[in-house]
Amino acid sequence: MTARRPTFPAQLVTAAPVPGAVRPRTAQARPAGESQPRGVGLDSSAVRHRMVHKLAAQGIGDTRVLAAMGEVPRHAFVDSALVNQAYEDTSLPIGLGQTISKPNVVARMIELLLGGQCDSQGRLGRVLEIGTGCGYQAAVLARVAREVYSVERLRGLHEKARDNLRPLRLANVHLLFGDGMVGYAKGAPYAGIIAAAGGDAVPQAWIEQLAVGGRIVAPTVMPGGAQALVVLEKSTAGITQRVLEPVHFVPLKSGIA
Ligand code: SAH
Repeated sequence: MTARRPTFPAQLVTAAPVPGAVRPRTAQARPAGESQPRGVGLDSSAVRHRMVHKLAAQGIGDTRVLAAMGEVPRHAFVDSALVNQAYEDTSLPIGLGQTISKPNVVARMIELLLGGQCDSQGRLGRVLEIGTGCGYQAAVLARVAREVYSVERLRGLHEKARDNLRPLRLANVHLLFGDGMVGYAKGAPYAGIIAAAGGDAVPQAWIEQLAVGGRIVAPTVMPGGAQALVVLEKSTAGITQRVLEPVHFVPLKSGIA
């Protein structure tokens, strides 16, 4: 696994443009005047705040989560053809057969994660995310946790997330390319572990890397074959597990590609 930390912001400084070179169209690389993608209107923050109101109406009550969701420009993480759907409560394709979860699911899972042990300011300590995808959820997590370690097994998406996150300059997000099934022992113990892909069981490595007082929130395949959200808590007395509502996540796969 290759770690990009803690020099993350320094590594992400965009190199001076080479004349004639084609640069990726990151939010930073957009020409002046084009910084608000078409389709979300002139003021993406207004659209985003409508999304936050809807999340609150749907039952997301944690103000830390609502504030974080109100700050992250979701439209900057999706393909330009999909920006007009970026603030709708829908999952969207992010390439390589993967999807970004709908805002309600992202908010719900982070709210569950925050039910674990937080500091006096209500912040989580170190968090491990399995499945960086386009990097959106990592950006939301960065606003509620001290450090975020995010692992992605597909190199193309790991690189896409790096490009998407560059303009946000989040010094506390560490992107890792590797198999998240084995967790990331170097960052352990974690106050929270959140999975964006569903496996048949919560891997033992995640349980071992979880701090006492911490929580794992992970979509998991149930005996009948359907996925449900599982919340696992570690205390000095041992591990407790709750099975919550049904969900539909892409499969958790081993190895890298
Ligand atoms: N949180 C992401 C959602 C990504 S979808 C976002 O905000 O965009 C789930 C991701 O999990 C996919 O990119 C998939 O490649 C990845 N994934 C699946 N199994 C994995 C594993 N074992 N380790 C790391 N990433 C994995």
